[in-house]
Amino acid sequence: MNDLFDIAIIGGGPAGLTAGLYAARARLKVILLERMGFGGQLLTYEKVDNYPGFPEGISAFGLSELISAQALRFGLLTRNAEVTGLEFEAPIKRVVLADGFIEAKTLILASGASPNKLGVKGETEFTGRGVSYCAVCDAPFYRNQEVAVVGGGDTAIEEAVYLTKFAGRVHVIHRRDRLRATQIIQEKAFQNDKIDFILSTVVKEIRGGSGGVEGLILEEVPGGRTSELAVSGVFVFVGIHPSTDYVPASLERDPLGFIRTNQEMATSVPGVFAAGDVRSKELRQIVTAVGDGATAAFNAGRYLEAHSL
Ligand code: NAP
Repeated sequence: MNDLFDIAIIGGGPAGLTAGLYAARARLKVILLERMGFGGQLLTYEKVDNYPGFPEGISAFGLSELISAQALRFGLLTRNAEVTGLEFEAPIKRVVLADGFIEAKTLILASGASPNKLGVKGETEFTGRGVSYCAVCDAPFYRNQEVAVVGGGDTAIEEAVYLTKFAGRVHVIHRRDRLRATQIIQEKAFQNDKIDFILSTVVKEIRGGSGGVEGLILEEVPGGRTSELAVSGVFVFVGIHPSTDYVPASLERDPLGFIRTNQEMATSVPGVFAAGDVRSKELRQIVTAVGDGATAAFNAGRYLEAHSL
C-alpha cells in the first residue's frame, strides 16, 4: 500500500528544497520528488553573487549542496522520479510517476523553468554540437575559440562574462539597441575586452557541418541587412518558460504559462501551492525562490490544520 504524505513537493531547486526544509523541520510527513539532481537551474550558473550571507559570493554548486544538506539534516525524504501528471480535484491528491503514484494531502509545485529556444533553422540540428543553453556545462569545449551569446538579459550577460574564461572572443547578439540586464551586470561585461556587442540584430540561421556549428546568419533590425559571423559555438539565453508539462490545464496561469498564486503561494486549486520560478512573479532570484518555498510550506501546514487533514 502507498504511504499518504502531508506534503509532496515537486522539484529540488532552491524553492523545493527550502519548502522541504521548513516542512520536515515542522515534523510534517513530506516527500520531495526530483527528476535529476538537487539544485535546479542554480546548477547552470557558476557563481552566485547576490545571495545574502556570502560576502565574497559562493559557487552555485556549493550553495546548492549547502541548501540540500540542510534540508536533509531535518529528515526530508527525497525520491528520484519524473512526475508525469497530477490529480488534484479530490482532498487526497495524486502525483503520477512513470512507475506508479504518490498520494499527499497537499502539493507544492516547485518545478522551476527551462530555457527558451530561439526557434531558428539549425538550432535543433546543432543542439549539443555547438548550440548550448548552459555555459557552465559547455564553456570548457570552446577554449580559445570564437563563440556567440544570444540575448541581452541577466543570464546572457553573466554567462558571456563567464565564457571569457575559456573562449578567445565572445560576441553578444541582442535584438534591441540596449541590454535588458541589470546595470551592475552590464558594467562587468562592458569592462571585459574579450566581449563585443552586436546590437539591434537577430540570428536568422545557425549553420554548420559534420563537425558542428560553423557560423551564424545575422539580420539587422530594423533594416534587414544580413551578414555572416563565424563562430564554433552559440549559447542561447533568451528567457525561460515554466516547467509545467505535468500540470493539468485547469490550474490557473498567467498569459506566459507561469502558475498564478496569492501571497500565501496558494494556487487556484485548494491544497495546491507553487513556489519559485514556476510561479507568476516579478523577481526571479534564488532569494525570492527560497522565500516562496518557506511561505508555501508554512501555508500548506496551515491548510492541513484548517482542514483537519
Ligand atoms: P530575460 O530577463 O527574460 O531576458 C531574455 C533576453 O532574451 C532579453 O534580452 C530578450 O530581449 C531576449 N529575447 C527573448 N526572446 C528572444 C528572441 N526570440 N530572439 C532574440 N532575443 C530574445 O531572461 P533571463 O536573462 O533568462 O533571466 C530570467 C530571470 O532570471 C530574470 O528575472 C533575471 O533577472 C533573473 N536572473 C537574475 C540573475 C542575477 O540576479 N544574477 C542572473 C540570471 C537571471 P528583450 O530585452 O528585447 O526583451
